[in-house]
Amino acid sequence: MGNLKVPFFNYPHIFTSKEETFLSVIQDVCCRGAFIMQKDLADFEQHLADYTGAKYAVGVADATNGLQMGLMAGGIKPGDEILFCSHTMVATAAAIHFNNAIPVPVEAGSDHLMNPSSIEAAITPKTKAIMPTQLNGRTANMDAIQAIADKHGLMIFEDAAQALGSKFKGQSAGTFGVASCISFYPAKILGCFGDGGAVLTNSEDVYRKLLLLRDHGRDENGEVVLWGLNSRLDNLQAAVLDAQFSDYQHVIDRRRGIADLYQEQLGKLEQLVLPPTPSSDPDHFDVFQNYEIEAENRDELKVYLAEKGVGTLIQWGGKAVHQFRKLGFTQTLPFTEKLFERMLMIPMNMSLSDDDVQYVCDSVIEFYS
Ligand SMILES: *Cc1c(COP(=O)(O)O)cnc(C)c1O
Repeated sequence: MGNLKVPFFNYPHIFTSKEETFLSVIQDVCCRGAFIMQKDLADFEQHLADYTGAKYAVGVADATNGLQMGLMAGGIKPGDEILFCSHTMVATAAAIHFNNAIPVPVEAGSDHLMNPSSIEAAITPKTKAIMPTQLNGRTANMDAIQAIADKHGLMIFEDAAQALGSKFKGQSAGTFGVASCISFYPAKILGCFGDGGAVLTNSEDVYRKLLLLRDHGRDENGEVVLWGLNSRLDNLQAAVLDAQFSDYQHVIDRRRGIADLYQEQLGKLEQLVLPPTPSSDPDHFDVFQNYEIEAENRDELKVYLAEKGVGTLIQWGGKAVHQFRKLGFTQTLPFTEKLFERMLMIPMNMSLSDDDVQYVCDSVIEFYS
């Protein structure tokens, strides 16, 4: 990866881009001995809630644990069926599985997110919730999903791991349902120096349960009042995240700018389908966690770009969750399976210069000509 001209993701850059700031944050936190659930965590949680408009934000060990605890706090019971879009990380389904509930995969649509029109056919008397993944920094059509949830009396949970700052009709991803998760994995838009995550909720009851669940079931007096986990966001990681958060709007603007550049250069290639252009639909505000294209001759393009020194990635190792047959899935989802033969992510991150983006585009254009 180090010798690529344009690596898919530049991990050291997230530290070196603001090394001085981070060193002083780390020194400050460590000299205070403020390692577990201190002021820095509380501050970051407040900023996260303010930014998203969620009533509550709870820092947790990672988004997967967050989602699992969100379902727990929301009252999901053994045997409940939860619908999710199969184009997601296996973590989405695992969070359901480890609640002894049943993950039921449904199709992605042409925007690569949960297809609302595929939801109703999967609903059974056991269905309790719909859990869209707000994928690639885009929020699903939540009006359509909410309408189905209302009609059938279902809860909504969101896997918003990739979508901090993304909006549908002005409302932030992660604030539509009972609870949602955000991920701070290093390659996520807001990344920390290891694992980290948060749960967002508007319910005071869910919030209070989450505080217990993430800390061994202990209440504010240290008394154990239910079975809990150890799933806290490290105070040091919270401080590192908070230090980056003030700059977050700039990060989103730049990512949308890169998407505009890709659109300008690659939009005319008939062999490609690009993600929606940043300002093309007033209902959607996309933050471009990823830039996931569909490409003719995808595998050959990937090899060609690698030879040119351009890193690319096929999301989830190239399989939708229901295609992991060893997990017991038996569904076939033709549209999603077709997508997985065509999808490819090209570089989208803060270490890219305009020249890098141009080089990626030139290389793609060369391949097809
Ligand atoms: C990254 C990611 C997760 C998992 O996040 P962690 O913080 O690593 O647990 C879950 N779902 C989606 C869609 C993701 O992209």
